[in-house]
Amino acid sequence: MKTKLGVSALSLVAACGLGVLLGSMTNERRPEVAMAKEPVVQAPIPPANDGKLRIIIFGAHPDDSEYTGAGVAVKWARAGHHVKFVSTTNGDIGHWGQAGGPLAVRRIKEVEAVAKKMGVAVEVLDNHDGEIMPTMENRRTFTRLIRQWNADIVIGPRTNDYHPDHRYTGILLQDSAFMVAVPFFCPEVPALQKNPVFFYKSDRFQKPNPFTPDVAVGIDEVIEPTLDALLEMVSQIHEGGANGSADLYPSDPAARKKRDAQVRQSLARRYAGGATQYRDVLTKFYGAEKAKQIKYAQAFEICEYGRRPSMDELKKLFPF
Ligand SMILES: [Zn+2]
Repeated sequence: MKTKLGVSALSLVAACGLGVLLGSMTNERRPEVAMAKEPVVQAPIPPANDGKLRIIIFGAHPDDSEYTGAGVAVKWARAGHHVKFVSTTNGDIGHWGQAGGPLAVRRIKEVEAVAKKMGVAVEVLDNHDGEIMPTMENRRTFTRLIRQWNADIVIGPRTNDYHPDHRYTGILLQDSAFMVAVPFFCPEVPALQKNPVFFYKSDRFQKPNPFTPDVAVGIDEVIEPTLDALLEMVSQIHEGGANGSADLYPSDPAARKKRDAQVRQSLARRYAGGATQYRDVLTKFYGAEKAKQIKYAQAFEICEYGRRPSMDELKKLFPF
């Protein structure tokens, strides 16, 4: 990880607010951010061994894990399982009209609000947006995070995604998929006794190979609270992120109301597309009758480098 502070992963998280501040000082493009009294993101405490599942979801930017975990994370959380979202960059160039420290702080607050509504933990690593690289340091960070969470399930992007940060996050996930169980790699954090099952989130990229789902989860019963949570990410959803513009979310209340409804619908359509596209896989898990009725779904593909679960184990990992 490119750390301006040169500290370990855990203290890096605790120092995230400060890191954002230093980031803005070391790069003249980035506007200054007001001094934060408290760290912006606290490292969540890994749950005790309580027999529940532990899931860690990696995304490149503060919104990616949230879209990946939408619905399914809420279902896990409501069943008492432990879910954590990790963003590998702080998102500090992901907006058309704002950048640097203030944007990073804004986006951290947005994903904290999402996490609170979904009932999950969240961590944002202090790397500049657009600059995550598959370095040895980052491989160690991924390995430590997965071990500290004592993960049963690790989810992230595939490596043939359009955005370099997404691709390198996918590579880092693959690079950790065996190392988490190797005791003398990062020996300061005990190796996992059992290699977790690693999954890729769904995507639409075809080359060199398309996403091939192994699991599909119906999320109808949690779609409304999930959309409520996702809509906390105003900088990305309402304002359009890096490709947005000022006229997308004007200050006029009537126009805002219209935009709110529009973005909610478009998000719902995204997950409705999952149910249509992955109906075959839904049928494998729910049976034809039930699968036919599912309106919203998420799908995941097993990464070959982690543990390879049987159908029985898959049903235990996704106990819905
Ligand atoms: Zn992203």
